Amino acid sequence: MVETQEDTICFMNLAIEQARLALDSLEVPVGCVIVEDHTVIASGRNRTTETRNATRHAEMEAIDMLLEHWQKDGLSREEVASKFSRCTLYVTCEPCIMCAAALSIIGIKEVYYGCANDKFGGCGSILSLHMNSSEKLTSGVSKKKGFKCTRGVMASEAIDLLRSFYEQGNPNAGRVNTVFTLIQPQSLTESQCKGSKQFDTSCRGAVMKNVTCLRSY
Ligand SMILES: [Zn+2]
Repeated sequence: MVETQEDTICFMNLAIEQARLALDSLEVPVGCVIVEDHTVIASGRNRTTETRNATRHAEMEAIDMLLEHWQKDGLSREEVASKFSRCTLYVTCEPCIMCAAALSIIGIKEVYYGCANDKFGGCGSILSLHMNSSEKLTSGVSKKKGFKCTRGVMASEAIDLLRSFYEQGNPNAGRVNTVFTLIQPQSLTESQCKGSKQFDTSCRGAVMKNVTCLRSY
C-alpha cells in the first residue's frame, strides 16, 4: 500500500508521542515508530539515561523490540531480513551514525525523520550511510543495503521538544553548544544536505556529551 503525505504526518505524530514520553521521563526527547504494511509494529524512545547505556537510542529500542519478537516467532535470518525490507521508520530526529549504520545493515526500506542532527547525523548531515548500496561487512554475512530517506517531516515539533528538554530539564543547557537544523520535507541526496536554516540549541547526538558535562561538574 502506498503511503500518502497524510499517513506520513500521522506516523510521525506517533513518533512525536514517543518523544514526549521520553521527555516525561527526563530523557532527551527523541521517539520513533516502525511501520509495516501500513501498521505500526514497533515503537521506541530514547532511554540512554534510564539504562545508563549510550546506545539505547529510540531506533535501537524499536529494532530490538522487533528482533526479540521475531526471534520468539522462530523466524529465520532470511525471513527477518525480508520483514525489515518492508518496514519504514519514522523518527523525530535524524538517526545518528550508529543508528544509520544499523538501519542500513538490517536493510530497512525507508526512513522519514524530523530535524537534522548536525553533530552526529548519519543520514546526510555528517555521513550519508543511507546511500550505501553494496558494501560487504567483514563477516561476509550481510551487506549494507542503504535506504530511501526523507528529512524535515514535522521538524519544528521535534525541535520544540528538544528545546523543552534543555530549557526546562537541564540547568546546564547553555553549556551544550550544538546545532539543530530545521529543514523542509524532501528526499535526501548528498547535495541537498547543505545550506539549511540553523538554530543554535542542543541536539540528540549531544546527549552523552551533555551527560558527561553534567557529571563532570
Ligand atoms: Zn542513534
